[in-house]
This record gives sequence, C-alpha cells and structure tokens, in this order.
Amino acid sequence: MRKLASIQRIKSLEPIEGADAIEKATVLGWQLVVKKGEFRVGDLAVYCEIDSQMPNKPEFEFLRPRGMRIKTARLRGQISQGICFPLSLLPQGFEIAEDADCTEVLGITKYDPPMPASLSGVAKGRFPGFIPKTDETRVQVLQTVLDKYQGTACYITEKLDGSSATYFIKDGEFGVCSKNLELLEDSTNSFWKVAREMNIEEKIRTLGKNIALQGELVGEGIQSNKLRLKGQTVKFFNAFDIDTHSYLSFAQLTSLLDSLGLPMVPVLTTDYQLGNNIEEIVKMSVIKSRITDTVWAEGIVIRPLEEIHNSFLENENLHAGRFTFKAINPEFLLKFGE
Ligand code: AMP
Ligand code: MN
Repeated sequence: MRKLASIQRIKSLEPIEGADAIEKATVLGWQLVVKKGEFRVGDLAVYCEIDSQMPNKPEFEFLRPRGMRIKTARLRGQISQGICFPLSLLPQGFEIAEDADCTEVLGITKYDPPMPASLSGVAKGRFPGFIPKTDETRVQVLQTVLDKYQGTACYITEKLDGSSATYFIKDGEFGVCSKNLELLEDSTNSFWKVAREMNIEEKIRTLGKNIALQGELVGEGIQSNKLRLKGQTVKFFNAFDIDTHSYLSFAQLTSLLDSLGLPMVPVLTTDYQLGNNIEEIVKMSVIKSRITDTVWAEGIVIRPLEEIHNSFLENENLHAGRFTFKAINPEFLLKFGE
C-alpha cells in the first residue's frame, strides 16, 4: 500500500531565486516548496504526497479551493509536489518514527478520478487472484532500490493515462477485467467493446495456454482522451503466464504482441543503464507523447530487460516484488491539475 502521508526527514533546503518567504525542500525523492524557516535540514515532518485527499478539518481548510486535494504546483518557477506539516499535526500519543505511515490516523484517502459508466461496467467478480493487478511505484520513494540496481540494463516505455485493462484465458474461459474487477460481457462497456473490436479473445486463444495480457485502454471517453485519439484501443505492457506465475521478459512480450498483431505502449528506448539520481529520472519524464507529439506524455515506466522479482523489492514497496516503476511528468501534472 502506498503511504500517502508519512513521517519523513527534510533532506535539504535550498533558496528559490527571487523568493524571500519560501524555500525548496527535498523529502524522499520529492521536491517541494516550504515556508522559509519553518523546518531545518534533518527535521522530521509529516509529508503528504500528491493525490492525497484531505479530510474536512480546519487545519486543511486552505486546500478547499483545490477540492481538499494535494496537487502539483509551481511557485516562483519551482515545481512543488506534496506538502510538509509540522509533527504537531499528529494526534497526541502517535509514535514518532521516520517512515511511519500516518495516512489513516490523519483520515487521508487517495484521490481517484470518477469513472464514467462506460468504464465501470457490471462486476462478474473480484479481480482474479491468479493474476497480479497492474501497478507502478513512483520513483520518488525508490532511492534504496535505485542504489542497489544502478547499472541494470533497462527499457523505457511511455506511460499512458487511460484505464488499466486485463484480458486472460484460464482453463478455456476468456475474462475481461478493469483495474480492480472482472467484468460481465456487455456491449456498452469499453473494455469488452475493445476486446471484440481487436479480436483479443481469438488472439489469446491461439496461444493455447493460460495467459493474461495487460494494457492501458485509451481513447475517446477515457480520462479526457488527452492524446486526442479517434475511437478506443488498448496498448499492452504486460504478458503474464498464469501457470508459471511469471511475467514474460521484454523480448518475449514484444515478439508475442508482434505475432498476435496487438499494439504495445510506445517503447522509448531499450538501452537505458539504470541511474540512481531521482531528479534526473524525473527530468527524463518531461517529454511529449510518442502517440500525439503536441501533448505532454503522462510520464515513463522503467523496467529491466530481464524480469527481476524478490522479497527485497517487495519490502521496498514494489507491488508483488516486481522491479518496475514510474516517473510522472510534472508538466503533465501541472497542465491537467493533478
Ligand atoms: P497510475 O496510473 O499512476 O496508477 O500508474 C499505474 C498504472 O499505469 C498501471 O496500473 C497501468 O494501468 C498504467 N500504465 C500506463 N502506461 C503504462 C506503461 N507504459 N507501463 C506500465 N503501466 C502503464
Ligand atoms: Mn493511470
């Protein structure tokens, strides 16, 4: 689970050109603006990430004009992501420890954009337990992982801002899932409509095994269609072998999608040696979309060419212990008010 609010150390404080009242703080791999003098380097503070939906309490009233949400902002030219509060925000008796999760105790929830009816569909059941849900961890909390895996041969894809789609065959049954649910077939549901249009069931059946393909549903009616596409489509980023419970490698994924004639998310490079400087990785995410070059890409996803899974990664907040993470383009977040 993502910690939206946690106790973190102020790693550094730097002046912002032309600003007297504010300064730039670094917390984890995040950069944010704080009131000058409110914190000192090494202080602990309650750090709340972007996407935090704050409760209706007087101390958060200043966020009312922003729908009580913490969003990416730009102040005096400095991008600011997240907010630091003094530890006095915490209730009496809360044990102060670095990295302690205080999301729940503060009543903070994650902001999720509302889902239109064409996407929500009718549930057939819960998301199947034999396939991992899709998820990407933000690079800003992965310093330890980057330090350990620096130099690993990676590929980078463009992150698309749509809706997560999973298509699978298990013991002869075809299934369609949104991010958290398996869906009943229904001609008004976009996940199923696209499955039929792209012949996804027939294509996966030709593989003759229990397998899941996961991708991003994008296009008209989905997340404001920021790429301005006509119609709807799915761009794939995962193939998961259900029987061996393992993801296909990059080479296996690309050749499988090629052979089925199914599209992949845009591949930006297959030749990236993992670096450990978070600021540089965030800079790499400031790109225009490969699909529609007049708009900002949402960001990038970085993965090793050969899959890496282990319990170290699981402990470091990587979903299912898989080495894969995202860097979101701050310009995209600013432009779309996130
Ligand atoms: P978020 O959308 O911020 O929750 O980030 C995680 C989600 O990004 C995943 O669940 C996928 O649905 C989606 N996604 C979009 N593009 C990609 C990509 N190129 N690689 C992996 N996941 C992606
Ligand atoms: Mn998304």
